[in-house]
Order: sequence, then structure tokens, then C-alpha cells
Amino acid sequence: MTRKQKKVLIRIILSAVLTGVCCLIPVEHSYIRLGMFMIPYLIIGYDILKKAFLGIIHGEVFDENFLMAVATVGAIALGEYVEGTAVMLFYQIGELFQSYAVGKSRRNITALMDIRPDYANIEQDGELVQVDPDEVAVGTVIIVQPGEKVPIDGVVISGSSSLNTSALTGESLPREAGEGDEVISGCVNMSGVLRIRTSKVFGESTVSRILDLVENSSMKKSRSENFITRFARYYTPAVCIGALALAVLPPAVNMATGNPAEWSQWIIRALTTLVISCPCALVISIPLSFFGGIGGASAKGILVKGSNYLEALSRTTYVVCDKTGTLTKGVFEVAEVEPVEGISKEELLETAAYVENYSNHPISKSLKDAYGKTIDSTRLSDVQEISGHGVTAVLDGRRAAAGNGKLMEQLQIACRKPEKTGTQVHVAVDGKYAGYILISDVVKPGAKEAVAEMKAAGVKQVVMLTGDARNVAEAVAEELGVDMVRSELLPADKVSEVETLLDAKGSKEKLAFVGDGINDAPVLSRADLGIAMGALGADAAIEAADIVLMDDDPAKIATAIGISRKTLRIVHQNIVFALAVKFACLALGAVGTLNMWWAIFADVGVMIIAVLNAARALRYQDKKMDQRHKAA
Ligand code: ADP
Ligand code: MG
Repeated sequence: MTRKQKKVLIRIILSAVLTGVCCLIPVEHSYIRLGMFMIPYLIIGYDILKKAFLGIIHGEVFDENFLMAVATVGAIALGEYVEGTAVMLFYQIGELFQSYAVGKSRRNITALMDIRPDYANIEQDGELVQVDPDEVAVGTVIIVQPGEKVPIDGVVISGSSSLNTSALTGESLPREAGEGDEVISGCVNMSGVLRIRTSKVFGESTVSRILDLVENSSMKKSRSENFITRFARYYTPAVCIGALALAVLPPAVNMATGNPAEWSQWIIRALTTLVISCPCALVISIPLSFFGGIGGASAKGILVKGSNYLEALSRTTYVVCDKTGTLTKGVFEVAEVEPVEGISKEELLETAAYVENYSNHPISKSLKDAYGKTIDSTRLSDVQEISGHGVTAVLDGRRAAAGNGKLMEQLQIACRKPEKTGTQVHVAVDGKYAGYILISDVVKPGAKEAVAEMKAAGVKQVVMLTGDARNVAEAVAEELGVDMVRSELLPADKVSEVETLLDAKGSKEKLAFVGDGINDAPVLSRADLGIAMGALGADAAIEAADIVLMDDDPAKIATAIGISRKTLRIVHQNIVFALAVKFACLALGAVGTLNMWWAIFADVGVMIIAVLNAARALRYQDKKMDQRHKAA
């Protein structure tokens, strides 16, 4: 509990006790009685009265404070002192509960992830000193001991260890890190001592960026939240006018028809409807549910940048996936090296690896791994990567190129067609064909199940788009059971394919694009929802996407959809429940069967139930995923 919340709690207790005392003391004189009850009333209500007054001055008349002020002042004016004070009391209890729940869920999100480092160790005069991570400059050597969190991104300069990334990814597979490896903040060091040279300041490290992203996610409001805000704007004044009518019209009719006017009875009924109509339960429980959903998702390594995206995800019926790195591992094995006459296999592989040196495409990494030797980058110049084609460069003063058939076509170089299925990297030197390297990628384990789970979660079509050759694409599509496949696409073609699908789908349905963030940023932003996967350490993907899957398990897509559906279900339950109870109570209050006590119980009760329901969004049981983990 914060200081502020404790203060409110003390006021609640004090006021409740004093009200009780006032009830016990028999005082006949009405002004003294009023004066006595004013003490507990003002103790509990002064801030609400002040806010209502300021609201009126600023022209924002109709809010909850106004409702509460009018209702309680009215009750007191009619001599219902206990009721007036009690309404304020319960209202404050409700507000306290609310602010506690919101604060708790906000902390929960970050606590669930548990990645915020408290300190960084640096060495001073041979001793380890703990300092604030914020104060560590780039290039400082920090020491991370077993059991500690890596506080800042950097490169290992000595030591080796395995790192637990589960707080970031929701998966418990450890990663090995040794000398020269980049490590990202938020992982937990499990075995050896690591000396790390920091490559970023704390504020730009992975941990800070992720925490920022999650904490700011409440800024992007969903349609349900906006609906509630708009609803409250019309609803409260409407209720006030209704209450005024209830207070004035029936007595006026009574008088006109010659009956006793019964002013006080009707005014009490009007005030009761004001208390009932307070929209707190709705206003609070909806953002709270989204908060819960976003928090629950981040505990599973799924970062959602705003509740609007969670809402869109729940309506996703088309999932369009990139192939390489998304559904397949993106780790290619060299299957065949076929040089033309006069060139050796080693030379061909060397040329390819050199030309690919600066590319960050998965193909490039695989070729460099297959080559295995260190690359002397002084032999290279004028490197150009052509998206969806390949790379050209000047190597030892000669023009060289490595890429697919399209690249060779562009360079007007005839190439041989391999017979085996696989991704082809053709190599040309000095405008002459040098041969091809056939590489093959493997489907991610669990990708097939992931496609099936997406469909079980309500996705109508799973589409695969790829820049890879047709035969490869079709083989993969067959293996995974996707509904539709388009191959040999340039990044721009992927955008137009997505646009065609966007036109074809219904207006309420959403299309999500899932990619690895490497050269698919344009599609990520064109789709209704961009999902980047394998983002651990990939900054570009975190920027471009709306939802970020920290690890690269495609099964997380179905998990994310499941979480979003559950959250939206809770939101709708809360809206329907709160409105139904409100309208029922309003009707009863207007005809006078519900007194102010019931009104306040209804209001606070509905709110508490709605908030507890919202808290369910935080927990999502992923049965299929758990089963697979057990099997593994
Ligand atoms: P996807 O991710 O769908 O496979 P990309 O646009 O990343 O599509 O790549 C499409 C194709 O372009 C690849 O299959 C490959 O043939 C070729 N290509 C792209 N970049 C490179 C590269 N750096 N080296 C060789 N070929 C490349
Ligand atoms: Mg790609």
C-alpha cells in the first residue's frame, strides 16, 4: 500500500467509528446533531467535495465526484445524516480498492517478468562494488556472478556460462555465452562468472526497452476503453437530468392533482438513483482487464504494445507468415556445392561467404558458418544487398554476386538449374557464372502443431509468403498444412499480397502478419497487426511490430490469440454485468423499492466483482503448450 492509500484507509476507519459514535449519542437539538455528523462526513468526503467543486469551476461538471457530492449533500439536507456519510464511506472504500488493484496489476506486470536489475557490479581497486545500472557508461566492464541478472547489454570479454532467458521469453531453454558473445540484459547468469563490456547505456538496453514498452502499453487504448470513456461522457449527465426529473415531476403532478406533494420521498429516490448510477465499475474494470491480459502475455514472453492490439488479435482470422526464420529455423545447411569447370568447391564457397559478409540474412550467416574461416574484410568493397535477390560486391577488385535466380536474371547471367529441391545461391564473378550452392532449411519443431493450434484458436486461413523458390515453398507448405502459399516474392510483392488479403476479408476480421523482422518491416506495418518473432536482441523488430514474441516459437501465436480472446471475454462480461446490475438497480431505485444503503452496496459490490473478474485475465493456462513441454 502506498502512503496515499494508507491515509485514505485511516480516514475511512476514523470516519466509520465517529459515525457510529454519533449514532449512539442521543441528541435532540437538530443543529447540534447536524454539527456532530458533519465531522465524520467531512473527514471522509472533503476531497470529493473539493474535486466536485473544482470540476464545476472548470466546466467539467458531470463526473463521479459530482454525483457523489450531490447525492450526499442532498441526503444530509433532508436529515439523512447516516446515509449521506455512509455513501461517502463506501465510495471511498471502493476507490481505495480500485487504486490498490490498479497499482498491484501495474506492478504485477513488471514483477511477473522480473527482469528489472537492481544493480551492476563494477570493479574498483580490486573489489566488487554495486552501482546503479543507470550510472554505468558505455564501454565499462561489469561483472555478473552466478545467480545475478545481466543488467546491461554488452559483449563477454572473459568467462563462460549458461544464461537463463525464461524471464524474457517464457521458455526455460538456457543459452550458452562465452568470450566474444553478445549478451542481452534481463537474462539470469546460471553458472560461471562473466566479465562483460557494456555496449549500451542502461536506458537503451533490452531490459529498459522492454519495461518501457510494457509499462506504456496502457497508453494505446482499445475500442472498448474508448467506448467507456465516451459512454461516461453522455451517461452521467443523462442520469443527472433523469434524477432531477424524478425529484421534481412526480411531486408537481401530485400537487396539480390535489394530492400531497411528497417532496422529500421523491428527492430521496432521485438521490438514490444518482448513487446507483455511478459508473465506476465499468470505468475501472475494463482497462484493468486489458492490463491483466497484457501482463499475462508478457509473462509468457509475448509483448503487446497496447490494448488496442490485444483487441485486434482477438479478432484475427487471417495469419500471414513469412517462411524463413518464422516457420523454418532460418539455419541453412549446405547440401550441394556445384562450381562450373575451372573453379574449386572451396573457391566457390569462399566467394559466396565473402560477398555475403555484411548481410544479416539467415542465408548469409549459414554460408559464413559453412566457410568456417575468418573473413578479411579489406578484400571487399562496394557491397550492395538487394532485398529478395541477394548481394553484389567487389572482391579482390572483381565484381562478384551471390543470390537467387532473379539476381542472375537481373545481371543477365545464365545459370544452371539444380535438380534437387533447395534454396539456390548462384554465384557469379566478373559477369561469368561460377556455380551454385544448394542450401536447405528445416522446419521449426512444433511449427506444424503451431499451424494446427492457430486454426483451433479460430484462425480461418494461415498463409505463407516467401521470397524463396517455388519448389521449396510448396514442400514446406505441404509439411506444415498451411492453407495458401505464395513464393518467389520480393518484399514489395509481400505487401501487395497482404493488401489483396486485406481487401478480401470482412470488415470486422483482422489480418496479422508474422515475420522475423529481417527485411519484412514494410509488411509488418501494412498488416492490421504486425507480429515480430525471435526478437531477443533484434531492435528493429521490436520497433516495427505491434506484438513481439521474444523467442521464435511459432506456437506462441496461438497462445497470444488465446490470451487475447480470454481478455476480451472478460471485458465483455464486465460490461454486460455492470450495466445489467446498474439498470436493474436504477429501475428499482426510481420506484422506491431500493434505499440508499442498497444503492451503495450495489455500486461497490459490482465494482469489486468486476475487478476480481478482471484479475483473471492475468492468468492463462496454455494446456497444449504445457503438454508439449512435459513431453519434451
Ligand atoms: P523469405 O524470408 O520469405 O525467405 P526474403 O525476402 O528474405 O524472403 O528472401 C527471398 C529470397 O531472396 C531468398 O530465398 C534468397 O533466394 C534471396 N536472398 C535474399 N537475401 C539474400 C542473401 N543475402 N543472399 C542470398 N540470397 C538472398
Ligand atoms: Mg525473411
